[in-house]
Amino acid sequence: VAIHRKDYRPPDWLVPSIALEVDLDPQRTTVRSRLMVTRNGDHGRALRLAGDELTPLEVRVDGDDADWVMDGNDLVVTIERDRAEVETTVALVPAANTKLMGLYASGGILCTQCESEGFRRIAFHPDRPDVLSVYSVRMTADRACFPVLLANGNLVAAGEAGGGLHWAQWDDPFPKPSYLFAMVAGDLQPNRDRFTTMSGREVELAIWVRQIDLPKTAHAMASLKAAMRWDEETYGREYDLDLFNIVAVDDFNFGAMENKGLNIFNSRYVLADQDTATDSDFDNIAGVVAHEYFHNWSGDRVTCRDWFQLSLKEGFTVFRDQSFSADMGSAAVKRIDDVRVLRAAQFPEDAGPLAHPVRPETYIEITNFYTATVYNKGAELIRMMRTILGDEAYRKGSDLYFDRHDGQAATCEDFVRAMEDASGVDLGQFRLWYSQAGTPLVDARLSHDRDAATATLELSQSIPDTPGQTGKAPMLLPLRTALIGSDSGEPIGEERLILLGTATTTVRFDGVTEPPLLSINRDFSAPVNLRVERRDGELERLAEVDPDPFARYEAGQELMYRVLLAGASGEAADTAPVIAAARGTLVSDTLDPAFKSEALSLPAESLIGDRMQWVDPEAIHRSRDTLRSAIGSELGELLAAAQAVGAAGHDLSPKAKGIRRLRSVALSLMAAGDPLRGAAAAKAQFDLADNMTDRQGALLVLASLDSPEREAAFDAFYIRYRDDSLVLDKWFALQAAAQRLDTIEVVEKLASHPDFTVRNPNRWRALVGNFAANQWCFHDPSGRGYRFLADMILGVDRINPQVAARQVSSLGRWRRLEPVRAALMQAELERIVQSPGLSRDVFEQASKSLA
Ligand code: ZN
Repeated sequence: VAIHRKDYRPPDWLVPSIALEVDLDPQRTTVRSRLMVTRNGDHGRALRLAGDELTPLEVRVDGDDADWVMDGNDLVVTIERDRAEVETTVALVPAANTKLMGLYASGGILCTQCESEGFRRIAFHPDRPDVLSVYSVRMTADRACFPVLLANGNLVAAGEAGGGLHWAQWDDPFPKPSYLFAMVAGDLQPNRDRFTTMSGREVELAIWVRQIDLPKTAHAMASLKAAMRWDEETYGREYDLDLFNIVAVDDFNFGAMENKGLNIFNSRYVLADQDTATDSDFDNIAGVVAHEYFHNWSGDRVTCRDWFQLSLKEGFTVFRDQSFSADMGSAAVKRIDDVRVLRAAQFPEDAGPLAHPVRPETYIEITNFYTATVYNKGAELIRMMRTILGDEAYRKGSDLYFDRHDGQAATCEDFVRAMEDASGVDLGQFRLWYSQAGTPLVDARLSHDRDAATATLELSQSIPDTPGQTGKAPMLLPLRTALIGSDSGEPIGEERLILLGTATTTVRFDGVTEPPLLSINRDFSAPVNLRVERRDGELERLAEVDPDPFARYEAGQELMYRVLLAGASGEAADTAPVIAAARGTLVSDTLDPAFKSEALSLPAESLIGDRMQWVDPEAIHRSRDTLRSAIGSELGELLAAAQAVGAAGHDLSPKAKGIRRLRSVALSLMAAGDPLRGAAAAKAQFDLADNMTDRQGALLVLASLDSPEREAAFDAFYIRYRDDSLVLDKWFALQAAAQRLDTIEVVEKLASHPDFTVRNPNRWRALVGNFAANQWCFHDPSGRGYRFLADMILGVDRINPQVAARQVSSLGRWRRLEPVRAALMQAELERIVQSPGLSRDVFEQASKSLA
C-alpha cells in the first residue's frame, strides 16, 4: 500500500510521556510500556498503535483490562476518556532479530535501531515522528553478560536486582519521537572525555566499545569534540544534555544513528588506527561522527513532521557535515569528493526508474527513501540557499529556524520559510527544487564582441521527465560565473552570481577586451548537468589558470571525457592535451598533493557511461585503460617520483593525507603504463607500508594486475588481518572491485568463503556492493554478474530486507544498456519480483525498476 504526502493528518492521539520497563535477555526480552495518551482534537476515534511482529501479552487502560482488537499489525484500543494510561506488555527475541531493526543482538551486545519504523518492533506505539514524548526507561539485565546499560538522556538511578541481575533507570527530559529512542546493553568499555560548552556547561563524553577496540577510538573522540566546537562557532548550537554517549556495534544496517544522547554507530565509522584504517576511513569517521552529532539540533531538537520531510533533517545535516569537513581539511578537495559522490550516486537515481523529488510524494516502504536524492541532493539545496542568500542571511535563517521550531516536528516548507523570513528574499521559485525530480540540464554559449569589448552568455535550462513527472517548470539555478582572459590568464571583472530562473536568458559582460574563457558553475554552485560550447584550447587553458579549484578540476576532467568518450565510440582522439595537463599538474609547485591526486584521477567507468547514449561497458573499459596507459607511459618518470614520496603513517595532517593520496594515484597510472614496473613498485609500497592507506593503495593496484605479487600480497593481507572484521571487509571489497576477467568467478567463490556471511551488512556490501559497482565485470555479457546479484539479493532478503533492497538499483539501470544485456537484467528483476515471500522493501524497488 502506497502512502501519500497529501494524505497527512495530525495524530488522533498524542503521547506526552512514556515509561518503559525492559527485562533484557537475548532469548526473551519483555517490554512493559506505559503510554500516557491524550486525545488530539475533537473526535471519537480509537487509539491505533503500530506493531511489527509483536503479540500483546497484556493490554490495560488505566489499570483495567482494556477493550482492544488487532487490526493487521495494529493494536486498536477503545478509550472513552480524553486522557488515559495505556499499558501493553510484549515479549521479544533479540537474538532472532536478523532484520537489525528494533532490538537486536550484535556480537553479544543488545542494541536498538528505530529509525524509521523500528520502535514498533519493541512496543506498540503510534510510531510516527510527529508524536513526541518524554521517556523514562528502566532496564534490567544479567550483570555478568551486560554490565553496561545505556539509554537516552541521563542515568538517574541504578542498582542490584538479585539473581545476578542489575538495573538502570534512564530519563530523557527532551520530548522526542519514537525513532530517536535507543537502548544498549553489553560488555563495553568507555573512552571517556569531557567537553565544556560555550556557555560553560560540562558534558561527559563516552565512546563505548569492546575492550580490545578501545585503542581505536581516539580519532572518533577527537572528531566529536571538534564537531561540538564547530557547531557552536558556525551555527551557534550548543549541546543540551550532561552526557553524550556513542556506542559502536559490528552489525548495523546503515552508517550510524542520531538517537538523543546515545548515538549508535556501525563500528566502521568509529574504529580506526593507522595500521587498520585508511585516510579516507579516518575522514569518513570524522564526517559521520559530526553528522550524527549535528543531528542533535537538525533532527532531534527540531524533527520531521512525517517521513516525506526526511530531507529536512538529512539534507541539512549532510550539508552541515560537509561544511565541517571542508573546514577541517582542504575545502576544494572536499567539494570535489562530494560532487563526485553526487554524480556517481544521485544523478543516476534522478535519471533512472527510482527518481523521486527531494521531498517525495509517495512511498511503499519508507526505508527505500534514505537515498542519495534525499541526502545528497537535499544537501545541495541547502547549499544553494546559502549561495543565494549569502552567509550572513543564511545564518540568520538557520537561527530563526531553530528558534521557531525548537521542540517541534517541522516540514521542509518551514525551513524555506525561515530562510525567507530572515533574509527577505523570495524563495518561491526555489521551492521547485523540493518537488521536481530530475537533474536540470543547462546549455551555455559565450560569444565575444572584440570591438564593443562585451561578451554575451546565452543560457538555457530544461528539466528531464522522470517517472510520473513531465512538463516541468524552469527552476532557480544559482550559477557562479566568471570570465578569464585567454591571453592574460587573469580574471576579467568580478565573479557573478547568475540566478537563472527562466528557460532561456542572456547575460552581458562589459570591459571584455581579450577573448574570454567561460568559468561557470564554479564550486558546483548548482547541481546540474552542464553543456558548454567550448572553443579550441579553452578547456586546456582553464585547466591551467582557473583560480576556482573546482572549476579548474572540472576543465581537466572535461578534457579527459573528450578522449574517453571518443575512444568508447571507436573514434581516435588526441591524448596530447590530457597528457600535457597531467604533466602540468605533476610538475606544479603551487598545487597541493591532494588536489593533484584529484586532477590526475580519471572519471570512473560508470560516469563515462552516464554520458553515453548507451552504456557500452567493454568499450568504456578499453577506452579508459588506453588513456591510463598513455598517461602512464608518457609520464612514467614523473609518476614514479610522485609515488616515491611518502608520509609517516601517524601523520594525519591534510598535507600528509594528500601525499599518500597522490602516491597511490601515481602508482596506479604508473602500473597502467608499465605493468611490470608498477607491480614491483606496488609490491614494495605494500611491504614497506606503515599505514593502511599505502597498503590498500598498493593492493588496489595489484588487484587488477596479472602478476605473481598479486596473490602473495592478498594472502599476506588475509593472514595478517583475518581476525579484524573491518579490515577483512577490505580484503573482500578489493577483490570484488578488481578489474579482471576472472573477477566474477572470484566473487562467486568468495560468496562461499568461510569468512563471508549474509548476516553482517558490512561484509555483504563489501562483496556484493563492490561487485555491482564494478561496471566492466558486473556487466559481463553472459549475464552471470546479474544472476549472481539477484541470487544474493534474494538470499539476504529473507533475513534482512533493508540490506537487500538497497542493491536492487544496480539492476534497475537496464534501460541504459544495449538490448541483450538489458533483457538479461530485466529477466533477473522479473525473477526477483516473482519470488515467493519477497519483502515489501525489495518488491517496491524491483517492481519500480521494471516499470
Ligand atoms: Zn543523518
